[in-house]
Amino acid sequence: MVIYHIGVYVFGDTMNSKPEIIEITIDKQKLKDLQDRLKNPHISSAAKNALIKQVAGGFCSHCEEIPTKIASYDMHGAKLIEKYCDKCLKIWVK
Ligand SMILES: [Zn+2]
Repeated sequence: MVIYHIGVYVFGDTMNSKPEIIEITIDKQKLKDLQDRLKNPHISSAAKNALIKQVAGGFCSHCEEIPTKIASYDMHGAKLIEKYCDKCLKIWVK
């Protein structure tokens, strides 16, 4: 059973349990292409969002940047999955 991030109160419940951190592997060239396109003012934000989804599988759960890590929390046998960028991982996962 997998529960996706649905709100801060769910996250608050998990603060005591240490998550398992899984690296999101994105091909270096693909990541560079993505970052270049995100800087391009001629590409719409909807198209940029679609690109992030396509390359990284979704967004950081906290700031909607490109995620680099997945944190998997064990909640009484259920799993809570959250994606983090490097910046938010430092802030939220101790
Ligand atoms: Zn973030």
